[in-house]
This record gives sequence, C-alpha cells and structure tokens, in this order.
Amino acid sequence: MTETPAAFGRRTFLIAATAVTVAGAAGAADPAGANPARRRQPATTSSRSVGAYEVIPLLDAAGPFFLDRQLAFPAATPQDWERAREIDPGAFGPGQTWQLDFRCFAVRGPRDRLMLVDTGVGPDGSPAGGWAPTPGHLPVELTRAGIDPADVDTVVLTHLHEDHFGWSVGLDGTPFFPNARYVVQRSEVAALAAGDAALSYVVDPLRAAGQLDQVDGSARLACAPGRSGGVRVVPTPGHTPGHQSVVVEDGHRQVIVTGDVLVHAVQLVDPSVAYRYEADPEIARQTRERLLAEARARRAVLATAHLTEPWTEAR
Ligand SMILES: [Zn+2]
Repeated sequence: MTETPAAFGRRTFLIAATAVTVAGAAGAADPAGANPARRRQPATTSSRSVGAYEVIPLLDAAGPFFLDRQLAFPAATPQDWERAREIDPGAFGPGQTWQLDFRCFAVRGPRDRLMLVDTGVGPDGSPAGGWAPTPGHLPVELTRAGIDPADVDTVVLTHLHEDHFGWSVGLDGTPFFPNARYVVQRSEVAALAAGDAALSYVVDPLRAAGQLDQVDGSARLACAPGRSGGVRVVPTPGHTPGHQSVVVEDGHRQVIVTGDVLVHAVQLVDPSVAYRYEADPEIARQTRERLLAEARARRAVLATAHLTEPWTEAR
C-alpha cells in the first residue's frame, strides 16, 4: 500500500482488503483453534433491557484484522494503547495484532416489534469474504436467540461497508429478512461510487424487492407505549458520509448502538485518534466526541460492533 492515509477511500479499502486474502484464509483454516478469538463463545445471552426494550448482541464473526493496530490507528500513543488495553484486553492479540468482533444487535420491543442493527460479514462468498477473518454465522446466532428472520420488521444498516451488510441478502440477492424494511441514510447510498459492491450486492436487490427505505437524518422507528422514548436512528457521519447510529431509550435508560463511530477502545480513551479507513477523519472525530459526550451526560450504555465485549461506556 503506497497511498497516504488521507488518500484511503472506500475503494482503496477494498484493494487493501484484497491484498490480505491470504492472511484471512489462513485464519479461517485454523483447525487447531489456535486463535483464542475463534474459540470464544458467542455472547448471545448477555442482553440489556431498556424499559420495554431488550437489546441482544449477536456475534457474527471474530478474529484478527489484516493490519497491525498501529497501522490501523497511526496516531495512537503507547499511553493510549495502555489505557485501551484496560478497557478491552481481548482486542490485543499477539504482537501488534488487533483482534476484533463483528457484531450485530437485535432490538425486541412491545407489540412484537423486532429490529436488527447491521447484518455482519455475511456467508462464505459475501463481499467481506475477501478480508474478514472468517465467514459469519449470524443465522445460528439468530436461532440461538429465538429469532426467526421472517419476524424481523426493520433492519437498520448503520452504513454500507461490507462487514455491516453481509447477511442483508442471500448470495442470490433474495432479502434474508423477507418482511423487513431496510433503513439506510439516503446520503449513504448517494455517496457510493459506481462499482461499489454495496450497490450490486445489497442496494439494488433491496430496491428491486421494494424493501429499501432511505431516510434523511433522524428518524423514529418505534415509540415506547405510554412513555417517553423508543427507537430512533441518528446521523453520525464521518466513518462514512451517511453513517447512522441507533438510540434505544425508555425513561432514563439509554443504549446507543454506535455502528463504527468507534471501532476500537483506543478511540474511547482518545476520541481524536482516527481509524485509518474513516471517509472523513475530521468529521468522524467531531461525531465521536459529540456522541461520547452525550453518552456520558445520559449515562448511556454503548453497544459496539467491533470491541470484543458488546457493552461499554463513555469515559
Ligand atoms: Zn465495521
């Protein structure tokens, strides 16, 4: 990779990802289970209740990233790493390895509402397969959580990176959640470059099925009956142009499903530390600082996709 970090866009990411297919395949063919992240049990059972809602973590995949952590977060200092290790020791693999989870969340609410936030890396053969450490197993996790895909009424895609939309459709383009509307920011779709895998793999099939629901900015997905709160999406741009997060709240309790506003605990201890593949690092930093400040003020629980525990809090 010869580009400067500032030049890394979505397409470069794909190119970089292709270059590490060999390392990814080696991780996937790990019959001895030498990788501790692959031996860990999925954390399906550790759900959190928020008044009338239950937020359920669903671990699609886990394993090492294709870049050493210092390359993924070039500005992080030794002190940052030390503090991050205290928060998320599981993210620190051998040497400089970054171990990460690829996690989705389900939100169960009153009146049989069932929502999903993100759909992981997807099956063998999905676009993320070129670089993700293993194929995903979200369907197994859904079964374990007692969730029938046909009962999911809403799928929120925080953004259109390959490790977040993988199980949205099957390999033949059929929506995996046949009765769901798929909520994505219009600006996220508009920013996709021609030829981006997200267009052909997920956007076009969902649009053809009449299940793509593009929204502009904040949007309420569910109301808590008789109380304040509910479920809403809020724009959190920077990682991608139309990135969004999901706020689940009831009364004084709040869980924020962050998506990739932060992808490592090092960005919790210092929100100014950029992740290499942020589309706009400056906006990403502003978004991260704002979200973490609000989470601190509300004592919100953060539900993250890539830390090695589903729950954390703003510091
Ligand atoms: Zn991600």
